[in-house]
Amino acid sequence: MPTKPLLIVISGPSGSGKGTLCALLRQALPNLEYSISLTTRQPRPGEQNGVDYFFVSDDEFKTMIGRGEFLEWAEVYGHYYGTGRSVVESYLRSGRDVLLEIDIQGAQNVKRLFPQAILIFIAPPSLQELGARITNRGTDTEETIRRRMNCVPSELQAAEGYDYVVINDTPEQALAELLKIIEDARGSTDCR
Ligand code: 5GP
Repeated sequence: MPTKPLLIVISGPSGSGKGTLCALLRQALPNLEYSISLTTRQPRPGEQNGVDYFFVSDDEFKTMIGRGEFLEWAEVYGHYYGTGRSVVESYLRSGRDVLLEIDIQGAQNVKRLFPQAILIFIAPPSLQELGARITNRGTDTEETIRRRMNCVPSELQAAEGYDYVVINDTPEQALAELLKIIEDARGSTDCR
């Protein structure tokens, strides 16, 4: 009997290392489909359109909102971010597991639409470590870093609403925990 596809949602504050973990998870699970989000923020050095994000203008984004083309969207740190509806729905219809890396507002909206979605929050080992990771990334302006750090307390509070919290002490340990969560969820999808 085929199992239901998994919809895995990963969130966490800036600097929690969720981007790196999602990349490791995709390497470990090549059949996991990743939904590339759309954003109105500028690409960081090294980011590629259609790989990291689809980079669009405010007008394009608003037109897509009007057409109902987003499964969810949110304003995060002063820019718009959204998940395309048709891609994710077609992956799930064809039975493929999907990974979304989205903010806490988006995660709540996805959970409302798909109660079976597995919400995983990536937390940093400490606030000092978080600050160091954001600053050392070296790709953000001081204003961007300040804005992101200001959001950390409310983001950490949101962890309470998640199904799982993974503390990212090291990428190896956090990846192992993610894989275990997914393996356990696979084992239980027959009963959903
Ligand atoms: P960044 O600018 O660092 O790539 O992402 C900023 C925030 O936007 C992160 O919390 C990231 O998870 C979130 N984000 C990325 N894509 C989406 C999306 O499609 N929808 C929502 N709601 N948040 C997103």
